Amino acid sequence: MLALFRPHIMTCRVAAPRGVMRWFMELRGFTGFASCWGTIYLMESLTGEERTMVLRHEIAHMEQMAREGRLIMMTRYSYQLVRVGYRQNPYEKAARLREFVWHYAERALLAGRTTLIFPNVEEYS
Ligand SMILES: [Zn+2]
Repeated sequence: MLALFRPHIMTCRVAAPRGVMRWFMELRGFTGFASCWGTIYLMESLTGEERTMVLRHEIAHMEQMAREGRLIMMTRYSYQLVRVGYRQNPYEKAARLREFVWHYAERALLAGRTTLIFPNVEEYS
């Protein structure tokens, strides 16, 4: 139970992809990528709300790595990628849901709402 409240510390930075990373992201059609070495890569073509949404998604992956440990998370992520594919990967589903929840919550609070209804964010375990 105490483990739920243990803070997870991970250094993180944002950078534009270069070299092999740019080639890989273009090959896969990714506009963002959270690396296990702590860098979130964002394509320079992303602007405004789209950039914010992709950043939220990649931060969710950083949170997954911080919570489970980078090696364990990447191993489980890769296993699920092979097993069910990218879209159905539980880590991707959780990150998309987090991205949506933050977007919804920010919009609602900025619009003056004081009550938020959060969906049950089922994390991969
Ligand atoms: Zn993702």
